[in-house]
Amino acid sequence: MKTFYIETFGCQMNAHDSEKVIGTLLSEGYSQVQQWEQADLILYNTCSIRDKAEQKVFHRLDQFKKNSQGKVFGVLGCVAQQEGAKIFERAPHVSLVAGSASYAKLPSMLVQLETGDRRVTGLDFDAAEAFETPYTRRDNPHRAYITIIEGCDKACAYCVVPFTRGPERSRTSQSILNEAAELARMGYSEIQLLGQNVNSYRDPSPAGLDFALLLRAVGEVDGIKRVRFTTSHPRDFIKDIVDAIDENPALCNHVHLPVQSGSDAILDRMQRLYSRDTYLRRIEWMKKARRPIAISTDIIVGFPGETEHDFQQTLSLLDAVEYDSIFGFKYSKRPNTAALALEDHVPEEEKVRRLAIVQEKQRAIQIRRHAELVGSVEETMAEGYNQATGQWIGRTSQNRTLNFVHARVPQPQAGETLAGTYLDVRVTRSGPNSLAGEAVAGI
Ligand code: SAM
Ligand code: SF4
Repeated sequence: MKTFYIETFGCQMNAHDSEKVIGTLLSEGYSQVQQWEQADLILYNTCSIRDKAEQKVFHRLDQFKKNSQGKVFGVLGCVAQQEGAKIFERAPHVSLVAGSASYAKLPSMLVQLETGDRRVTGLDFDAAEAFETPYTRRDNPHRAYITIIEGCDKACAYCVVPFTRGPERSRTSQSILNEAAELARMGYSEIQLLGQNVNSYRDPSPAGLDFALLLRAVGEVDGIKRVRFTTSHPRDFIKDIVDAIDENPALCNHVHLPVQSGSDAILDRMQRLYSRDTYLRRIEWMKKARRPIAISTDIIVGFPGETEHDFQQTLSLLDAVEYDSIFGFKYSKRPNTAALALEDHVPEEEKVRRLAIVQEKQRAIQIRRHAELVGSVEETMAEGYNQATGQWIGRTSQNRTLNFVHARVPQPQAGETLAGTYLDVRVTRSGPNSLAGEAVAGI
């Protein structure tokens, strides 16, 4: 039997693409192995969002050069799309280079390799539709990803995604709802809707649902207790999404709304298509919602031309919004992007300094906000058990980690695990990144 090994770098979209690739390979008669040394086919599903991610991929490929005899190496994902056939020069032991828009053709590309082709590429964006496959091998037994839209039609000046994932293609609402219903039947209770910009979802079928209507429909699928979604672009984030969350408790009260910068001048240079004020208006919709909505964001420091004044604007935005969590990044130059033409690059040490200040400020905000939750009771989904701490690992609807002890089931027992169950947990302690508590009810 043919065997394969796959390693995945990057975002949830990549993780889910790998699940689909695995499903496709299994259906083609391959079996998956956990050690690359045992595999005939070795695949890297790559990320090129920042230069570090990309370097990691080439470093990893280099490690295997010496022992590549008799094996087929393939590079998938964003680095594949970005570098194309150049990868064959840099890593001659690679035989397959395919971007995400070509995965539907994976079986035929594998046949080409098996029948002796030395180099095969799949780099076209000609797929008018999103990558749909009946074969998806999901990693998590309780939470499943569903892609609703692929690609991105925005042109943020720093971002490679429009080049690596191509133009936007939405799936029909019917195929999304069928997949959600099928997942519920298989026992999944949490669904995460994925897209680079889920807010620009447009149902291509006559039903014509927009994202808020799609969310409502997925929230009503029998057996689905939690629906998450990522990522939202602030420009296309409409109030109806907040209304949908307010109406349906199955829609998780957490929104990831990447702001990138608090300065209008920088937002303009980034071509983000919104101002600080319009962004803050969206935050206000969420703060005024009936349900408490947790808000997280992405911040880039050191974008070209970012002055100390611009940076202070980002810090003041953190104070104004009081995010529940953030992901902070140092700006990194990316091929093909508009920002390459900008001047006034911020020195690396200054980026490091600014990132540390952002993270320190956010840490203080999280410590304060988490402390306010002590004493409250949160519905928590148990995700697993941590032997080292003797606690169950849990997640709240607001996407906070809430680890807890359970009097009746202090640890997994033969035939009994709490994983996948929903329990009420009283918060007893708080830290900057997580909460701890004790289960009060639920099973
Ligand atoms: N589509 C989403 C959006 O519009 O926010 C997410 C895109 S990207 C996968 C995730 C985050 O990576 C972005 O929000 C941004 O903060 C960061 N990022 C993207 N390109 C970057 C770059 N060249 N340098 C540093 N951070 C970058
Ligand atoms: Fe990149 Fe901007 Fe598209 Fe997000 S919206 S994927 S940041 S271009």
